[in-house]
Amino acid sequence: MLDLKKIRADFPLLSTEVYGKPLVYLDNGATAQKPRRVIDKVNELHTTLNANVHRGAHYLSERCTEEYEAARETVRAYIGAASRREVVFTAGATAAINNVAYSFGERYIGAGDNVVITEMEHHADIVPWQLVCGRRGAELRVVPFDDRGELLYERFGDLVDDRTRIVGVTQASNVLGTMPDLRRIIALAHSRDVPVLVDGCQGIVHGGVDVGALDCDFYAFSGHKLYGPTGIGVLYGKERWLDEMPPFMGGGDMVATVTFEKTTYAELPLKFEAGTANFIGAIGLAEAIRYLEGLDARDVAQHERLLLDYATERLQAIDGVRIYGAAPHKCSIVSFTAEGTHPLDVGMILDKQGIAVRTGTHCAEPVMVHYGLTAMCRASFALYNTADEVDALVAGLERALRMLR
Ligand code: PLP
Repeated sequence: MLDLKKIRADFPLLSTEVYGKPLVYLDNGATAQKPRRVIDKVNELHTTLNANVHRGAHYLSERCTEEYEAARETVRAYIGAASRREVVFTAGATAAINNVAYSFGERYIGAGDNVVITEMEHHADIVPWQLVCGRRGAELRVVPFDDRGELLYERFGDLVDDRTRIVGVTQASNVLGTMPDLRRIIALAHSRDVPVLVDGCQGIVHGGVDVGALDCDFYAFSGHKLYGPTGIGVLYGKERWLDEMPPFMGGGDMVATVTFEKTTYAELPLKFEAGTANFIGAIGLAEAIRYLEGLDARDVAQHERLLLDYATERLQAIDGVRIYGAAPHKCSIVSFTAEGTHPLDVGMILDKQGIAVRTGTHCAEPVMVHYGLTAMCRASFALYNTADEVDALVAGLERALRMLR
């Protein structure tokens, strides 16, 4: 089992008080807190190593470049990519998905083609595809989910056809917690030669990924949800695709030679890393990964499972509380509403008790529309959360409901 006392001591922000109450941080789906070693690493880099990468011939620049490329190797090994050429550092998952939508769209999507996504995608895996479909005259098709939050897998078979150019699907819904059967989706898409982008933003935090074994074509995630710094993310892409796709942005570092007549591009992955990279963020992300590697992934998964089950059981025992998302494979995210109350009011009263949950649409408006809602509350649990914090949430919610009803 996880040594929670020790783990919680690793995350300085968890001992914060808000409004004079101990913080109960249950908004990890939005962003996770950072272990001290990540914070220290970022500080250390700023105080001892800061110099631009891939540019200077001087000592600091060379050392910083080495650390940046070592961070790429750490990420490569962590996600199971075959080569560092397939690991592109981006500003986050949103930037990574936009990169694929733009570059892949330029090369492969044309009038009359279609892109297939699901009804449970985050806006970051909807809007970039809408933009590219609008530009290229393609159609956006959507695979629905049922009221339990399970994808209607048979609909993939209807919607993916010989004009489908790419499928985009989340590894874990940030509202419902659903973890779709990616192998099934990828096998179906590949049987029709259609590549698949997996939005791993929530999924990588709850169980990790092996992109090689999964055989997805693209994979995107953000560092800040994986206990790393903000402003850094990763785009994994199979070399075969990245090689053929044009760059997303132009600028320094992504070029081989530049004249006013013609520019040739740098080798992968730098072709997709225009401008000064967030090298400190990348090295900080590698530090977060090393922190996670120091824990037993099975213990983490089991702990999060217990938190999910306990929170689900306790919340649904409260009169009028409805939980959204009951898929058999679900990560530790619990979205709910309470009859007769508005989620924003509930969230505000919880906040005054030191309990941080997310309220609103969770950047997944189509999921709200599915249930005829405009907002939900969401408690999303990280490896450092405890059963006591679930109890605090339940007591806080009961108090909020007494006040509001
Ligand atoms: N995809 C999912 C499933 C998410 O939960 C999020 C963030 O909440 C994103 C994409 C976008 O991540 P970011 O804002 O870090 O780019």
